[in-house]
Formats: sequence, structure tokens, C-alpha cells
Amino acid sequence: MLYVWVVNMAMNLLSSEDVTVGRKGKRNTGKEVLTKKSKKKKEDLIEELELKGKKTIEVRKSIRIPVHYDITKNKMDKLNKLTGRITYGIRLIGELVSDVYADIFMNGDDKDIDNVLKLKTIEGLVKDNDIEEKTGLNSNFIQQCINKVIFTYKSHRKLHKEWEGKVERAEERLESARDDKELEKADKWLGKLKKREPSKPDFRKKISCRFTHNIGTVEQAKDKGKFSLWIHISTLEKYKMIDIPLNPSVYHMDQLKDVVVDDFEIIKGGDSRKKKNKGKYYIHVSITKIVEEKEINSVGGIDQGLNKSIAAVLLSLNENDKSFPREEQLTDSAKVELLEKYDDIVASLQKARKLEKATSLQKAEKWEKATSLQKAEKWEKASKAAKKAAKIAKKLRSLRGKRENVSTYHDWCLAKKVVEFTKGSYLAIGNTKFRQGMFRGNQMPTLRKRIGKWTYGRQRKMISFKRAEMGYRTKLIDEYGTSRECCECGSKLTTRKYEEGFSYILCHSCEIKKDADINASNVIATRCRDDMLKAGMIRMKNSVSQQDGSCSL
Ligand SMILES: [Zn+2]
Repeated sequence: MLYVWVVNMAMNLLSSEDVTVGRKGKRNTGKEVLTKKSKKKKEDLIEELELKGKKTIEVRKSIRIPVHYDITKNKMDKLNKLTGRITYGIRLIGELVSDVYADIFMNGDDKDIDNVLKLKTIEGLVKDNDIEEKTGLNSNFIQQCINKVIFTYKSHRKLHKEWEGKVERAEERLESARDDKELEKADKWLGKLKKREPSKPDFRKKISCRFTHNIGTVEQAKDKGKFSLWIHISTLEKYKMIDIPLNPSVYHMDQLKDVVVDDFEIIKGGDSRKKKNKGKYYIHVSITKIVEEKEINSVGGIDQGLNKSIAAVLLSLNENDKSFPREEQLTDSAKVELLEKYDDIVASLQKARKLEKATSLQKAEKWEKATSLQKAEKWEKASKAAKKAAKIAKKLRSLRGKRENVSTYHDWCLAKKVVEFTKGSYLAIGNTKFRQGMFRGNQMPTLRKRIGKWTYGRQRKMISFKRAEMGYRTKLIDEYGTSRECCECGSKLTTRKYEEGFSYILCHSCEIKKDADINASNVIATRCRDDMLKAGMIRMKNSVSQQDGSCSL
């Protein structure tokens, strides 16, 4: 008993040791370094998993592991200082770039901006301005700060370009408006959009940089101790490294098995909006999984329907296999109902808030002409209504959060179903982006409402991600015209009918009536299979060659 206690004590002492002095690599810490130069690590991993020469899929993801709550105060102080200094470094560099090139950001074309955002250009700027000295960060840290600044500017540009495109389309819509009602709507939308211009990169917030293998590594303890996972990072002092203990879950440790650990970021508060996590540090570790690509026996197509459901159709690569085509409507009606309930409550609350706001404004009107007694009364009523509106707004916020949780969970469950159903297939998902514009005008307000709140993009990501982890590829294809084409005869002479949120397609050539989403999935799958056959990526097995084969046996 006593012996165990002594061992535990010793282990605690060892783990609370704060600073390792000396260059990296010269230590014997009883820890296995997980982060390495990723190219070497990738080759090693492929060898280890016996995947050499085989087709593989790389899956990148990020896992969020909290720093251990039992971290010593000394280390916490060092971590605070370091992350603070990194933020400072990124801010200095960011402001330097924006000051020097303000003109180009405003008036230059893409090429000018690309030139400014070149690594060499910014490195020169950083050197001329003694940023290393000003921040006390070593050159490796500075390098990562520069990378972060470049990344931030580039993603801002991308966002801004998307926004410009949206504004352009909104302006076109305004010009092509056919009546006053459309004009008013288009004008309102354009006004809303203009307010939503992506703001310039703000470097005043706390920002982190990437810890690549030369400034930090993720390390796993070889022995079972109190702390199983650590990060080993450079500090502000030369040659001094510290070890920060993490608090991984079983899931985290599982995720770190057989992967390439690329790098990590240290983030305060994580990406969680919860107040209790505000002061906590989280480590976002980027990992790459290497998965063997599996053989396929079919090509599938899926269409994300309007009813928070997914239609899937699988087409065989073997003409003999009569178990194909397989069709399935995947849905989770319980969750759909729940989501719709939330939407209804949100809508009615919004209405109520609008009413209270209007009352509040109305009472404040014609103020000058009122007697002082009337004023007092009006003021009381106006403030009462304003208070009510604020209360409703608060309720709305919490409701939206709850709805969001249900919605994410719904997407996740549905993605799981899709992945299960499409095992063994190459899958094509129709890119539904254009759909938002499809139901313009007033024909189908209820349908439009549904589309607006339906998270196509997130769902696609979930599906392709899960499938990649299982060794199957997923492709996004342009869905243009798939909803009009008949899957039986290829004719485009069709009519779509809507009945209580469900839609059918009627073909005038072969006279079939089919669920519109199943039809679209079928067309998507057929297109994808044809493309792959043409490109020589796959081959059809047919009855003739198979019979020949069995005869010669
Ligand atoms: Zn037809």
C-alpha cells in the first residue's frame, strides 16, 4: 500500500517538473513524440498499416482536447504569457501589412494583392520593423505568426469575393423586378446584404498560431500515469521548453491512434460559446488519417430533399445483379416534427416581438403635443412594451440554440443512415446550391421556408467525411437539370407536381409517375456512372463475359 503511494508521489513530482532545459531530442522523458515532420510520418504510417502500393484516402480532421485542470500555476502563467505574446506578434504583423498596403487592398487587383501576401514580402517587412525584438518571439514563432496573417487575409478575400458575387446577383434581381412587390423585396434584400459585408481582418482579438513540429509537439506518455497526453512547446526563453498536460477523453486517445499528427493550435475558450469554458485552454490537434480505399460494386446518387429527408439510389456495376437498383427514402420523421415545432414557436415569438416593438414606437410618437400626464403614461406603456420585446428576444435566442442542437443531431443521424446504405458504392451528391434561387416569387412560400432552414452543406460534409473514414469516396456533382430529367427514359418533357410538401415527377414520354427526389437521385447516379465509365475509372461486368468465364472453367 505504502509502496504504491510512494510511486504515485514520485510520478506527481516528475510530472509537475516545470521546465526542460536543453535542446529537443536530447531528453529521455518517457514520452513518445506524436508530431513529426509529416511527410516522413506519413510514409512510416503507410508502411505500418501495410498500405504500400494500395489506393488510399487521406482524411483530415481536427480534435479539441482541453488542457488538464491540474496544470501548475507556474505553467499556466507561462502559457498565458506565450499565447499573449503570439497574439501581440500576429497583431503587429497584421497591422503592418494593412498599413503599408492599405491602398492596394482598396484599389489593387488580384495580382497586386497576391504579391503583397507573398511570404517573402511580409518576411522583409517583419525584418525591417524589428518584430522579433519587439515581441521576444523566436524566428520559428514569427514564421507561424506570418503564416497566420497571410491565412487571415486570404480567407477574408475569399469571403469578400463571395459576398461581392451575392451583391451582384441581388442588383441583377433588383433590375429585373417585374412589379412593385418584387422591387421592394429585392431592395430590402440588397440593403441587408450590404450591411453584411465581411469586415476587414481584426487582429485585436486573441489569435493563435499553428504549432508545427519545430515549436511544439504532441506527446503521449509511455507509462500509465496521471497524465497520458502532453504538448511539449517552446517558450519565450531560449532553449527552454515546457510540458503542458492535457486531459483527453477515451475518444480523443482513440482518434490519435494510427494517424499523422500534423500540428496544433492553442485556443483560449475553445470555440465554445459557453461562459464556463471562457478561461480554459484547448488544444486543437490536426490529424490526418490514412484509410485504404475499398472496392466498390455500385455507384450511388443522393438528393437532399425538401422535407429534411434524403433520397438515395444505388446502381450496380454488375448487370447480373438483380438486387439493384436500390432505392431508399431516408428520413427521421420524429426529429423533423420536432424541428417544425421549434420553427413554429420561433415564428410566433418573432411575431409577438414585432408587435411589442411596434407598440413601443407608437407610444413614443407625437410626443410634443402630449400633456405631461399623457407623456408619463405613454412613456410607461412604451417602456413596458420594450421590456416585453427584450424578454421575447432572450427567449428566442435560447430557443434558436436548442433548435440548432436538434438540427445538428438530425443531420448526424441522417448522415449515419446514408453512410450505412451506401456502403460499397462510389457516391455522388447533387450540389444543391442553386436551389435557393429556384423558388423565387410567391408560388411556394412554405417550401421556400423549408429550404432556407435546411442545412445542405453541413450534411454533405458529414456524409463525405464519414464515408471517407470507411474508405469510400464521395463526389459533389452539378445537379443542374436533374430534377427535370426522367430517370427511366432521359426525357426532359416532364412536369413536377407538389402535394403537401412532397413532390412527384410526371414524364410525358414514358408516362411514369415517380417521387421527384428518388428520380433526381437516380439521374445523379446515372450521370456519375456514365462519367466514370467514360473516364475508364470503372468497368461494367456484363452477362456475356461472365458466362464465358464460367464455361472455360
Ligand atoms: Zn420518361
